[in-house]
Amino acid sequence: MKQKHILILGAGTAGTIVANKLVTPAKKYDWKVTIVDQCDKHYYQPGFLMYPFGRYDEKDLVRDERDFLPQGVEYLHDGISRIDAEHQRVELMHGDAIEYDLLVIATGSRVNPKETPGMDDGEWGKSIMTFYEFEAAKALREILKNFNQGIFVVHISEMPIKCPVAPLEFSFLADDYFKKRGVREQITIKYVTPLDGAFTKPKASKSLGHLLTEKNIEIIPDFNVERIDSKAKKLISYDGKEVGYDLLITVPVTKGDDVIGRSNLGDELNFVPTDHHTLQSKAHKNIFVMGDATDVPASKAGSVAHFQADTLVDNIIRYLQGQELVANFDGHANCFIETGGQKGLVIDFNYEIEPLEGNFPFPVIGPLRLLREGRLNHVGKLIFRWMYWHIILRGWPIPGISNKMSMLGKKK
Ligand SMILES: Cc1cc2nc3c(=O)[nH]c(=O)nc-3n(C[C@H](O)[C@H](O)[C@H](O)COP(=O)(O)OP(=O)(O)OC[C@H]3O[C@@H](n4cnc5c(N)ncnc54)[C@H](O)[C@@H]3O)c2cc1C
Repeated sequence: MKQKHILILGAGTAGTIVANKLVTPAKKYDWKVTIVDQCDKHYYQPGFLMYPFGRYDEKDLVRDERDFLPQGVEYLHDGISRIDAEHQRVELMHGDAIEYDLLVIATGSRVNPKETPGMDDGEWGKSIMTFYEFEAAKALREILKNFNQGIFVVHISEMPIKCPVAPLEFSFLADDYFKKRGVREQITIKYVTPLDGAFTKPKASKSLGHLLTEKNIEIIPDFNVERIDSKAKKLISYDGKEVGYDLLITVPVTKGDDVIGRSNLGDELNFVPTDHHTLQSKAHKNIFVMGDATDVPASKAGSVAHFQADTLVDNIIRYLQGQELVANFDGHANCFIETGGQKGLVIDFNYEIEPLEGNFPFPVIGPLRLLREGRLNHVGKLIFRWMYWHIILRGWPIPGISNKMSMLGKKK
């Protein structure tokens, strides 16, 4: 019988986790596993948040991708030109085409400054910046060193974005950073969002909105940007509202990779329509989708990719064995939120249950407190980087935290 071939597109967080988890079943069932990525570096993206404030060195955030891929998985360093789902083949930029029996799409998402008129003209990288990519975060670190007065705007163009709390954390950290540099009083910080509050979920939005007020950060909600007048330095919304700035830190429109659009596999934002619970593509039974590339209504977060992995691998095995799929991914996400002053919050939620207060991950002892500011939560965020490189990417379980969200320790 012909050996079955599983092809993984993208060796970021999701692709690397699933490659590691597939090694054992691949040996057992004699499957070939290949993973393709155009970039041979692996980035710890949550670190892009802190890098502009002088925390972390490049070596803390950037590693060689091959160091995280297991033996037995073939790695191809190439761009993906097109997915031909009808003929079960993927065309690569350098001309080769690879056939597959089962495809895992893990090509992630990225920011697109060109989508908003005026964002990507002569001021991009000068008075309009982002921290959502490593090179941009590096440039921002230099600009921030000399920003001493004026209007500092943190802005979300539209949802969804990766890690929806990251711009809020960025505002809190900016407040802290400017205070430490003794220039906070000369700087007005504004938080401009298309949401009706600080966050996507009402309870967490209330707690986080409260923190914005405490830190004297003005929130401007319901702001849907139409264009930027980069000469006059203002954001202009569809309903004619204007917000001026001296330095704009924006999260541009986030989309799935262009290859999804080129292959006619995505929605208008190039996200792949995916079953929320089985992670199977809605259009093609032998395609599974994971991480930021899906259109599932979970956060676009590394933690989500980690929680999805067991369902995905289970369903790969079931699909290739001709068995019924399991529908057990529940949208579980959790996130450490930096609030400045070496404190943080933790939230844990899923498709159905919004972030609640309580103890985490263990019911009585915690030691972390949900939705409450504390130093241990900040320490948790710092430890998370070590866990990312050593546990999460390997696909190993995190002690005390299951893939399905647990209600233990949570106050209803
Ligand atoms: C500032 C910031 C802060 C964040 N904070 C957190 C946090 O605190 N907690 C958390 O859980 N998550 C956080 N995240 C989100 C997290 O990093 C992402 O959700 C996660 O990396 C998604 O994994 P992925 O594999 O889907 O995508 P990625 O890790 O982005 O990987 C996609 C891969 O696909 C490759 N690829 C794409 N298209 C092609 C192509 N055409 N050809 C070849 N290769 C291709 C890319 O090169 C890339 O390696 C944060 C992200 C940012 C930007």
